[in-house]
Amino acid sequence: MADKVIPVADLRYRARLPSIPALLQAPTGELLDTLQRPLRDLRISVTDRCNFRCSYCMPKEVFDKSYAFLPQTSLLSFEEIARVARLFVAHGVTKIRLTGGEPLLRRDLERLVGMLAELRTVEGRRLDLTLTTNGSVLARKAEALKAAGLDRVTVSLDALDDAIFRRMNDADFPVADVLRGIDAAERAGLGPLKVNMVVKRGTNDGEIVPMARHFRGRKVALRFIEYMDVGASNGWRMDEVLPSAEVVARIQAEFPLRPLGAAAPGETAERWGWAEAGVPGEIGTISSVTKAFCADCNRARLSTEGKLFLCLFASRGHDLRALLRGGMSDAEISAAIGLVWQERTDRYSELRGSAAAAGAEDERRVEMHYIGG
Ligand code: SAM
Repeated sequence: MADKVIPVADLRYRARLPSIPALLQAPTGELLDTLQRPLRDLRISVTDRCNFRCSYCMPKEVFDKSYAFLPQTSLLSFEEIARVARLFVAHGVTKIRLTGGEPLLRRDLERLVGMLAELRTVEGRRLDLTLTTNGSVLARKAEALKAAGLDRVTVSLDALDDAIFRRMNDADFPVADVLRGIDAAERAGLGPLKVNMVVKRGTNDGEIVPMARHFRGRKVALRFIEYMDVGASNGWRMDEVLPSAEVVARIQAEFPLRPLGAAAPGETAERWGWAEAGVPGEIGTISSVTKAFCADCNRARLSTEGKLFLCLFASRGHDLRALLRGGMSDAEISAAIGLVWQERTDRYSELRGSAAAAGAEDERRVEMHYIGG
C-alpha cells in the first residue's frame, strides 16, 4: 500500500504578492496577456468543502476526517468577493461562475448571487452569472438562486446507474436526488442547463450512451469531460482517459450528430447537435488532455481564500486577499490585477508532458476543489 504523504508546509498558502505598479493605469476592459488572450471569464471558488468524495477530485483517502479545510476567517467574505469581482468586470470580464468545493454548501450563497447580479459589464450589460454544482441540494435551492439573479447552472453527473453513481461520488449519494435537482433547476428557469460528466475509462464509460439517451430531446447541453491530471491527489493515469473522439464515436453509432460552432469565443467545449431535425439539446466534449484549448483561454480563477490563479494546472496563485485586507484602494488592486494578467504566459495543457511542464511540476499543483473547477 502506498504511504500517505502529509506535507509539512501547507502549500495552499504559498502565493506571490502582486506588485502594484507605480503608475496606476485605469482598467480599459481590454486587457491582454502575453499570448494576446483577453480576460473574460472569472471562476470563483466559494468554499473548499464538498459533501462528495469523487475519486478523481477529492479522494476519501486524502480528504478524510483529519483533513484541515480552510478556517472560516480565511475565506473571502461576500463583500470581498463582490469588490474584487467588480474590479475584474472593469477589466473586461463578462461571465462569472461560482464553484468550489460544492458552492451550495456556502451559507446564504443567494446573498452573494444578488450582489454579483448587480454588476454590469464594460458595455453596460448584465453579466452571464452561473454556478457549477454536484446537484445534491439543488432541488431545495433552485428557486431562491433564480430569484437572487442567477442565470444558469451546470450540474455534474457522472452516471445514471445508481450503483455506479454512488461509487463515483463515494458518499453513497443517490442519483435520483441529483436528477430531481436538475428538474427543479429547469423548472426555476436556470437554463439552458449544462450537465457535466467526467469520463473515466473502465469506471463510467459504459454510461456515455445511456446519458446521451436520457438527455436527448431536453434543452440540455450534455458535456463529456476528459479525466484531467489536476491537483496531486487523484493518482491520474493516462490509460484511464477516454479520448473525446471515442465518446463522440460511441454516441454517433447510436444517434447521428451534426457539428455546431462555438457558442462564444474561448469556449472550452466542442459542440454537436442531434442530427434529427427538431430534437432539442446538444452534446459537447471538453478535451483538455487530447486537444488542449489554451490558445484562447480567457479564464481567471479566484480561490476560496482570494488567490488569483491563471491556469487550472497552476502551482501558485497571486494573493489578492493580502491586498484586500491590507488597506489597498480599488485603483491599486485593479492595477495589480491588470499587471498579473498582462504577464500571464500559462498554457499547461499544450505543454503537458514536455520539459517545460515537467519544470512546472517541481511544485505541487493546487487541488481543484480549492481553486474551483
Ligand atoms: N462541486 C461542484 C461540482 O461537483 O460540480 C463544483 C466543483 S467541481 C471541482 C467542478 C467540476 O470539475 C465538476 O464537473 C467535476 O466533475 C470536475 N472535475 C473535478 N476533478 C476533475 C478531473 N480530475 N478531471 C476532470 N474534471 C474534473
